[in-house]
Amino acid sequence: MMKMAIMAAVSAVSIAAAAGGVIPEPVKTVPGEGVYATDGGFMERILYSFDGAIPKEGYRLKITPSGITIAFSSQSGKFYALQTLRQLAEKEGGGVKFACVEIEDAPRFKWRGLLFDDGRHFFGKETLMKTLDAMALHKLNVLHWVLTQDQGWRIEIKKYPELVRKGSVRAGSPKPVVLKTPQDVPEPGTGWVNNRIPYGPYFYTQDDIREIVAYAAARHITIVPEIELPGHSVAALAAYPELGCTGEQFEPWCRWGISENIYCGGNDATIKFLEDVLDEVCGLFPGPYIHIGGDEAPKTVWKKCPKCQKRIAELGLAGEEGLQGWMTDHFTKYLAARGKRAVGWDEVLDGAPGKDTIIMSWRGPQGGIKAAERGNDAVMCPIDPCYIDNPQGLADDPYEYINYGFQATLERCYGFDPAAGVGEGRKQHILGGQANNWSEYTWNGTELEWKMWPRMSAIAECLWTPPEKKSWESFRERVKTMRTRLIREMHVNCAPLQ
Ligand SMILES: [Zn+2]
Repeated sequence: MMKMAIMAAVSAVSIAAAAGGVIPEPVKTVPGEGVYATDGGFMERILYSFDGAIPKEGYRLKITPSGITIAFSSQSGKFYALQTLRQLAEKEGGGVKFACVEIEDAPRFKWRGLLFDDGRHFFGKETLMKTLDAMALHKLNVLHWVLTQDQGWRIEIKKYPELVRKGSVRAGSPKPVVLKTPQDVPEPGTGWVNNRIPYGPYFYTQDDIREIVAYAAARHITIVPEIELPGHSVAALAAYPELGCTGEQFEPWCRWGISENIYCGGNDATIKFLEDVLDEVCGLFPGPYIHIGGDEAPKTVWKKCPKCQKRIAELGLAGEEGLQGWMTDHFTKYLAARGKRAVGWDEVLDGAPGKDTIIMSWRGPQGGIKAAERGNDAVMCPIDPCYIDNPQGLADDPYEYINYGFQATLERCYGFDPAAGVGEGRKQHILGGQANNWSEYTWNGTELEWKMWPRMSAIAECLWTPPEKKSWESFRERVKTMRTRLIREMHVNCAPLQ
């Protein structure tokens, strides 16, 4: 089954016109003499061997005039050898030829990720699967899948059907103020208008999710679902108002930003609800990690809530931050008992979490550096340059971006080093990194792809290739071929190179 999936992933893509180098750049490449020319049926003639000395996910690929040999110690290593081979193939007449070469390769980091935000806007199976295909070609192996936001709940939970019935549709979406009609009145205190166009219902059924998880697994990609808590939960509170501190009825949010209304940390029924949700999520996602959010959770409502204050007093917690820390620890342990590791945004460090929680460092590298110092594993995705919802510095760009005050150009993305600033003896805690493609300003798959590619090609090389083997000049040439491949073979809407 797995072998067939690998074959399909390779042969489903026609061979590109000419090899223009490999992305990510392999660790060691030794050019050989001559070429290996075939009639195209080379896949069946590859000689495979197991070599336990090769690092996990690594491979050795040798092309001589008489054929191709691949050595590996894991199925993912074998798969990555084939992804390299795809990029080395040159079409000639009705056949395929390869320049002779010997490559030894293995990734620098084990977490090589991309965040896909289906919460603010919804992109659906087709865009998601195309993204997984393009990720596999780049040896990216983690899809961080955001499924719950204030603006939409996107995952079917059997025990709580109202989550998708009420939570997956909102009454409108924000647009920047363009006062063209009398109805275009900005929301008080904001720079936004509600376009009043119903959005949804948009969600994935559990069957959809099983299909996508299997599709990713065939490409050696682990999906890390994010079920955000305690903040960014307005869509869930719209479905079940009793889970909040006030019991007030909400609607899924029609604007972007940070809501003060969050899950009640003092209500046992809310904790039970989240446990039930995580039970179903654990059943759907076989991977080792579950993301439980933890970012942008204002404590305004908790300060006034008798239940939250009672829990803080009874457990002797350090105020509201201590209450969030208690929740992080509770769900980290809950997931650990189910064989999963919890991942949280770097704000969870304020609640002094246990050592098992993986910290995702987004406000800069500091959270990840601090996590590594205190013995927590960390994933690096500092806003600069890993937030690819930032403008990419194109002379003429038809799409809208969020503005964090800098441009995440291709070259800036290429400069990313997840281990920068991490102390010696602590670097083993840096699992790797990812780019985050938040979707407030991204309305459909066409725009989403434009923002991902080719910047994800740069991030992929940062996560795989050792710094001493990286070269912007070399990458700038190789990415031309990769961009053409993504457009011609996968029909991905890539941004131009400038
Ligand atoms: Zn409360």
